[in-house]
Amino acid sequence: MSDAEARPTNFIRQIIDKDLADGKHTSIVTRFPPEPNGYLHIGHAKSICLNFGVAQDYQGECNLRFDDTNPEKENVEYVESIKRDVQWLGFDWAGEVRYSSNYFDKLYGYAVELIEKGLAYVEELTPDEIREYRGTLTEPGKHSPYRERSVEENLALFEKMRAGEFEEGKACLRAKIDMASPFMVMRDPVLYRVRFIHHHQTGDKWCIYPMYDFTHCISDALEGITHSLCTLEFQDNRRLYDWVLENITIDCTPRQYEFSRLNLEYTVMSKRKLNQLVEEQLVNGWDDPRMLTISGLRRRGYTPASIREFCQRIGVTKQDNTIEMSSLESCVRDDLNENAPRAMAVLDPIKLVIENKADGVEWLEAPNHPNQPEMGTRQVPFSREIWIEREDFRESANKKYKRLVLDKEVRLRNAYVVKAERCDKDEDGNITTIYCSYDPDTLGKDPGDGRKVKGVIHWVSADEALPAEFRLYDRLFTVPNPASADNFAETINPESLQVQQGFVEPSMQNVPAEKGYQFERTGYFCADSKDSCSDALVFNRTVGLRDTWAKIEGNVPS
Ligand code: ATP
Ligand code: MG
Repeated sequence: MSDAEARPTNFIRQIIDKDLADGKHTSIVTRFPPEPNGYLHIGHAKSICLNFGVAQDYQGECNLRFDDTNPEKENVEYVESIKRDVQWLGFDWAGEVRYSSNYFDKLYGYAVELIEKGLAYVEELTPDEIREYRGTLTEPGKHSPYRERSVEENLALFEKMRAGEFEEGKACLRAKIDMASPFMVMRDPVLYRVRFIHHHQTGDKWCIYPMYDFTHCISDALEGITHSLCTLEFQDNRRLYDWVLENITIDCTPRQYEFSRLNLEYTVMSKRKLNQLVEEQLVNGWDDPRMLTISGLRRRGYTPASIREFCQRIGVTKQDNTIEMSSLESCVRDDLNENAPRAMAVLDPIKLVIENKADGVEWLEAPNHPNQPEMGTRQVPFSREIWIEREDFRESANKKYKRLVLDKEVRLRNAYVVKAERCDKDEDGNITTIYCSYDPDTLGKDPGDGRKVKGVIHWVSADEALPAEFRLYDRLFTVPNPASADNFAETINPESLQVQQGFVEPSMQNVPAEKGYQFERTGYFCADSKDSCSDALVFNRTVGLRDTWAKIEGNVPS
């Protein structure tokens, strides 16, 4: 079975199958066309997995093309981050990275061709007048007084635009199509505008820049794209896409197909809003682990495979919908459950003293994964004083509480059975130290005389454990659809980051950043790529062990 057959199909793949069967195409070329005006987010991952995935499965090619026609908002930092993110997701583009700006000379030539055919004119109405003349959905537009200029005059004026002889907003080039079209994009759309702005790729060569609709279809055709996949909001623009290609001399006719955007609950997806979060320092940069940018997810501990799996599970359709955050989380949880080594960490430590144990360290062997023996074992130090989780001890409790209780036994994970004897408290009644005895005959086996020990708790040795900071993340917003709020920044969850100081077992000292571990009974974590070092460990919680979010009171709006 080929890769294309192995994957669940969708309407795009059905179109491709038909085009190949009909002989319309013999190979497939797609492109991913980001505008370098921000970092990529999880929505882009959907488009990346679709475009690169289709190319891979059909032994075709996918280009990476920066759609860089808006120099004022774009920069090289974004270009570099986008390349890094695409590669990190596991994809590689065909040949060199491309830029729409590579085609500025050719685009200029095609604009001249449209003018020569009487299909474009230089407009001198102001931007406001242009808007006013355009009409509305219920009323046709009006013709501009400049619409009937001669070809010669238009050629000369367009040349003047290019030579910098018009100020910004004083002239633009428009296609001459149909001011009464039911599709607003067909009412003499602007093709070129004047902008005296330095461009990150072309420098100061140009002071006129082509618009998206004119640029995109021609760039697709020049690259021999067969299937140009974009999101639904470009549905109407398809008329213009086809019109431009029909009216210029170019020998390739790519087809545009639209699919629905990914929307995720409790997040915002537009780069403008993400940019605002960064600019106003409501988050710590584009790669803040709470951001659903690719770089944020990566820093949080998401794996490329888990994001690809997510894109696979959500599928590709034409229906707009909103995906629950839990579906993204379950993808990374499934991946890490299978592939992440286990370790022990105590996030909210309380001291436990094993009174019948001699001083000195005993090294115990612990499996790195409960059901993948090939992942090996590691040595864990055990000693007279250990840290356990504060919530794992109670002076008294009913049978449902399967942890440590005074006078009762519990197993220390990978170690012995201990029995709580007594505890110390401070003046306020808070427990400060727990005293236990241990049964040295319970390593790797049940205690004798029929004692049943059901509970297991995790721990780390007090002397050998390393101090660590744990960053626990929650959703960045308090409402499912922050984008619909009057001011989405006001719906930020003030508790989206909680920091705890605790301890990890010493084997964690030099773990690579971003590599996922399961801290047993606690969750999946990775060392932070910016702030963690072997002397000051910082771990990000990627996701909890189970999906408990909806069960926490107050989390689901009633
Ligand atoms: P944003 O609105 O977030 O700024 P955009 O569409 O302006 O996104 P581009 O850089 O132009 O961002 O997007 C590159 C490609 O990614 C486009 O083909 C676009 O359709 C696709 N894309 C962007 N957001 C999503 C999304 N939420 N779901 C699916 N595809 C998306
Ligand atoms: Mg865009």
